[in-house]
Amino acid sequence: MDLQVIDNATCTFCGCVCDDIKLHTDGARIHKAEKACVLGKAWFLNHTAEAQYPAAMVDGNEASLEAAIERAAELLHEADLPLVYGMSNTTCEAQKECVAMADRLGGIVDSHTSL
Ligand code: SF4
Repeated sequence: MDLQVIDNATCTFCGCVCDDIKLHTDGARIHKAEKACVLGKAWFLNHTAEAQYPAAMVDGNEASLEAAIERAAELLHEADLPLVYGMSNTTCEAQKECVAMADRLGGIVDSHTSL
């Protein structure tokens, strides 16, 4: 299989924004991510162009976005100390909203970099 090599690709996973990644791709899937750390490699190699999941799920089942938001709000409201976690590969505006939500809920924030 012939792979296309893309030099100086940028990884947006953790926020360090490493911009010297060398990707090997067949056009649909990335097979190798040279110079990426273990998190970056996992991110590059496990994402494809195809959508693998529906837009929203509740209890493992496909649901409308409205139903999923309502269930998430219920869970967050019932939680004693909600953890707002993740926020990788998200915009600064989305991260700002996450911090505001954690503040409003009396919760805490952590990013995936604590892995
Ligand atoms: S996940 Fe790794 S490769 Fe990607 S930006 Fe962060 S440190 Fe760089």
